[in-house]
Amino acid sequence: MNTISPRPVDAVISAAREFLGDRLSLNATIREQHAKGEDNTTPTLPDAVAFVETTEEVSRLVKLCHQHEVPVVPFGAGTSLEGHVNPVRGGISLDLSRMTGVLEVNADDMDCLVEPGVTRQQLNEYLRDQGMFFPVDPGSHCTLGGMVATRASGTCAVRYGTIRENVLGLEVVLADGRVIETGGRTRKAANGYDLTRLFVGSEGTLGVVTKIRLRLHGIPEATSAAVVQFASLEGAVRSTIEVMQTGIPVARIELLDDDMMAASIAYSKLEGYAPLTTLFLEFHGSEAGVKEQAEAVEAITAANGGTGFQWASDPAVRAKLWKARHDSYWAGVASKPGWKALTTDVCVPISRLVEALVGAKQEAKELGHATCIVGHVGDGNFHQMVLYDPNDPQGLERAWDMDRRIVSRGLSLGGTCSGEHGIGLGKREFLEREHGVEALAVMRSLKAALDPKGIMNPGKMFRN
Ligand SMILES: Cc1cc2nc3c(=O)[nH]c(=O)nc-3n(C[C@H](O)[C@H](O)[C@H](O)COP(=O)(O)OP(=O)(O)OC[C@H]3O[C@@H](n4cnc5c(N)ncnc54)[C@H](O)[C@@H]3O)c2cc1C
Repeated sequence: MNTISPRPVDAVISAAREFLGDRLSLNATIREQHAKGEDNTTPTLPDAVAFVETTEEVSRLVKLCHQHEVPVVPFGAGTSLEGHVNPVRGGISLDLSRMTGVLEVNADDMDCLVEPGVTRQQLNEYLRDQGMFFPVDPGSHCTLGGMVATRASGTCAVRYGTIRENVLGLEVVLADGRVIETGGRTRKAANGYDLTRLFVGSEGTLGVVTKIRLRLHGIPEATSAAVVQFASLEGAVRSTIEVMQTGIPVARIELLDDDMMAASIAYSKLEGYAPLTTLFLEFHGSEAGVKEQAEAVEAITAANGGTGFQWASDPAVRAKLWKARHDSYWAGVASKPGWKALTTDVCVPISRLVEALVGAKQEAKELGHATCIVGHVGDGNFHQMVLYDPNDPQGLERAWDMDRRIVSRGLSLGGTCSGEHGIGLGKREFLEREHGVEALAVMRSLKAALDPKGIMNPGKMFRN
């Protein structure tokens, strides 16, 4: 008689059902929703999806997975762009999106404690009446847990830092189910290895983040936005470099190249702008400080060929502009109906930004790619969206080839293969090239020490 031996994952599923009930789902549609993120990878199904609600549930489930050597893939909102959440070896997709508690807000110390499923929009809504805000703002509806795990940033990083600078401490469930706390509430500490920074950017490969203590910032007395357009990409980039070198504390300085501006004008119905390379800026401070910053930036941009410097202090106009900026990804996709987009993510030292951006745009043109660029240029970070026809059998592979070229150029200019999206599956090939064999071996040792059975989001970050 043939007997089929039970799979280890079945033992996890039946034990987890006892404390999760129907929050442990085998439903095909739910599994499909957890098979990939907002990326261009091939989906891979988890065996089950667990909708956890407490640290204790996470700990019990991860302990079971450890015992049975079953993969666990933490899942926030699934907006990541490098194949981070694909359960490439099956197992449990651990969905943290229902852990949405804002547990503490300490106005005097300007910090808060949140659960990982809270989005930055939800947190800012919660804080709005308290004179504080959280500034790290990716252009997606992602969770703070996902942001910690991918070391995310956004348009305000140039002034307020990335998530790395804004996390004070974490609660983490380790790969064997133990729960630890890292960091603390003080603004500085010289107290041993910095475990918080180890887990920030670890992409679910070292543990599950179940609580996050964040720094908050005071809402500035005055805010104003400005838009300035350029006939050349170089003029916009040189302006950015000079603004940064002069030390003007801009809150945001974002570039849309001519193609992206054309797409955004059409998609977001922006009126009064030409399809030219454009800088979107924002200034925070006192009324006088904001005016002074804007005047200094206007002078720099004018000297670099910027025209039509327009102020927008009306909150509604400002909101429309920044919504258009945040929607630029969708504007880029909509610019070629029926096509898809591969989003690249390179960051270079700011002095090399002209070479990186102009070179990448030129090369894409020579190779016949349709692309559009959006950049957090104050940080030297930009995304060149490579559009491709999904019906063209070579389309995606050609887009990947362009991605590799952009990364190679960035690395040769002293940059990094990812400014903010992370490694996932998509950027694994560049890690060794960027860090070297020995540094990669140290990273692998850390992984082996914290996750000896290799159950935490296996296949990500490293090739095996
Ligand atoms: C339109 C659009 C615009 C974007 N703009 C930006 C941008 O400006 N800046 C930017 O940085 N990114 C941007 N992104 C990428 C994406 O939003 C970020 O990477 C985000 O941080 C992912 O969060 P998430 O909740 O969706 O995480 P997921 O995609 O669910 O997961 C991402 C990774 O984090 C891990 N993870 C998730 N939660 C936890 C947890 N609690 N504990 C441990 N590991 C966990 C997962 O295993 C996975 O490896 C954009 C994406 C889109 C689609």
